[in-house]
Amino acid sequence: MKVIRAKSAGFCWGVERAIDIARDIARTKEKPVFTDGPLIHNRQMVAELQGDGIRDVGDYQSQQDLRLNEQEKENSVILVRAHGISPERRKYLKGIGMQFKDATCPDVGIIAGKIRIHAKKGYSTVIFGDPKHPEVIGLMGYTEGQGHVVQTIEDINALPHLGDKVCMVSQSTMFTHEFEELSKRLKERFPETLIFDTICGATKERQSEVITLKQKGAEAIVVIGGRHSANTCKLVALARLQNIPTYHIETAAELEVEAMSQYTAVGVTAGASTPDFLIDQVCETLKQIEPAATAKA
Ligand code: SF4
Repeated sequence: MKVIRAKSAGFCWGVERAIDIARDIARTKEKPVFTDGPLIHNRQMVAELQGDGIRDVGDYQSQQDLRLNEQEKENSVILVRAHGISPERRKYLKGIGMQFKDATCPDVGIIAGKIRIHAKKGYSTVIFGDPKHPEVIGLMGYTEGQGHVVQTIEDINALPHLGDKVCMVSQSTMFTHEFEELSKRLKERFPETLIFDTICGATKERQSEVITLKQKGAEAIVVIGGRHSANTCKLVALARLQNIPTYHIETAAELEVEAMSQYTAVGVTAGASTPDFLIDQVCETLKQIEPAATAKA
């Protein structure tokens, strides 16, 4: 079978950078690294990192107190994930007696900076994103208590009157077409709104490549990544919007040979937290599958 692999499949640069920072500390300084929540939403990669002395202690949303004893805190490092954290969380982590290291993705840092600057000038911030996602929870901390998270047009319609000092940003991994739709509606309600499209370049590239996989001849799309990985689930949703059979798997072992043999060409992409070795395994497995006689020619 022909396999069309998206060039953007796998780690985005922000996740890769966070992993490199964690590994660098663990290897060169020979210190255990604790991350404030899972560094990456991929079980297979988490297991690899544990082998390097990197493990998560915080909760998914980076909100609860860390459960580490004094001995564990001593001579170890607490690392902030690519998602970033709120100023309050930063203060907390810096005050617990551990060496502090920040691996916030610079693209998330830019969003936080835009919110902070405008909040200080009295702007209300509207964030398009998932209110339970750690990136959004962290960003809300920069809004000076004047932040609102929206996911739908109805959420925008339900916003209280915000006056003429309003700015809008997006969680870095949202859909561009949805951001455009929601920002248009927000402008109708508050015409002075400043709109900042903060969906990151890595996300935009990944999303546009899903659309081109079909144009390149893919009869189905396989999306590889954790079932709890938000950006992987978004890729799955986008692939389904192309009206093409879509399969969400975590590893090659989940590929169903009979189902796959219906196709002669399959597109493969993966979430920003999926390591290359898992993508390679899936592509190799697919290449070995012979299309059935009834498969589209
Ligand atoms: S998805 Fe974008 S903003 Fe998030 S870590 Fe990756 S590059 Fe950074």
